[in-house]
Amino acid sequence: QPSPSMPKAGAPSTGKPAVTPDSVINLDHGDPTMFEEFWRGTGSAAEIVIPGWQTMSYFSDVGNVCWFLEPGLDHEVRRLHRLVGNAAVDGYHVLVGTGSTQLFMAALYALSPPAGSAAGAAPMSVVSTAPYYSSYPAVTDFLQSGLFRWAGDANTFNGDTYIELVCSPNNPDGAIREAVLSSDSGIAVHDLAYYWPQYTAITKRADHDIMLFTVSKSTGHAGTRIGWALVKDRDVAKRMTKFIELNTIGVSKDSQLRAAKVLRAVSDAYELPEAKEDHRLFDYGRRKMVERWTMLREAAAASGIFSLPEETSGFCNFTKEIAVTNPAFAWLRCDREDVEDCASFLRGHKILTRSGSQFGADPRYVRVSMLDRDDAYDIFVKRLSSLQ
Ligand code: PMP
Repeated sequence: QPSPSMPKAGAPSTGKPAVTPDSVINLDHGDPTMFEEFWRGTGSAAEIVIPGWQTMSYFSDVGNVCWFLEPGLDHEVRRLHRLVGNAAVDGYHVLVGTGSTQLFMAALYALSPPAGSAAGAAPMSVVSTAPYYSSYPAVTDFLQSGLFRWAGDANTFNGDTYIELVCSPNNPDGAIREAVLSSDSGIAVHDLAYYWPQYTAITKRADHDIMLFTVSKSTGHAGTRIGWALVKDRDVAKRMTKFIELNTIGVSKDSQLRAAKVLRAVSDAYELPEAKEDHRLFDYGRRKMVERWTMLREAAAASGIFSLPEETSGFCNFTKEIAVTNPAFAWLRCDREDVEDCASFLRGHKILTRSGSQFGADPRYVRVSMLDRDDAYDIFVKRLSSLQ
């Protein structure tokens, strides 16, 4: 018997509960609910209807290396990168994953020598410069694979066979990064989840061998669970596809169609002459992020006990203007001598963040999501400014 508090069949959940001035504010995850307000304003531009008989087959495009990739998503991914100019797409295979998280795992699988081969006698070392995204070690080691294992900070790694994860702009500190290791038998995977105009200046068209992107951070549709990889080498693309085939026999077509429609709405708003200016996602995102970073810097200054990374800027080839970086996370340091663990200090003030220790860094630092809803963000900033 459904209870009165249960949602009606078919009614979507809204995610995190609403907040009040004395609520616990959870900014631990990078949940991109900030973008809901934008998408509420776009009417039916990003809506889809899927009749009961559609998207039933496992297959999408049997002639493609990635046989479960919906051609419409392939098309919109390439179109958006051409519009923004953040990544090369000509000569690349597009692969789809259940979030870029699945593609990250697929890359580890594809780039590690097969077990049983001479080269595969020892697991492949997976490294990234600290502070690194906390999921990299967690996802690399959770199944204790014999193919690869987490080997920590790239800066202190000794050896020439490795997979280096390069996240730029970096989660957690927003830094613009390049690979720090170089060797003929080392391979870099570029995680460009935040390389979009709302977060940073688009200074060059990235053309690395393997690049990962996701709607979670570009449009805010984390719940759709769609990411994509741009991969140069056909054999690597095939092995990554094989991983997804073995792991989940493909990727939800319903989600792919929705992601394609969302990406299409983003491009249309810039390319169609009749499009409304307030339907431009990157303009909205940039305005919002500039506003939030200004509020945060003022709050940190008012409190006097926190410091933030220096603001940097660059010429953005997409907006044709100088743009400051507005990272999706604040890498906040508590400068009070007696506070050694900033996350527990903030938890004492009902602000949940992720400790620097989870990113291979000092626990005086925390990572704070900048992408939550306005009400939670406003309470966070107000509370922070009052801390002494
Ligand atoms: N890479 C980075 C750097 C991220 O911050 C995130 C999300 N927090 C991901 C990948 C994973 O994104 P997805 O939701 O597409 O799995």
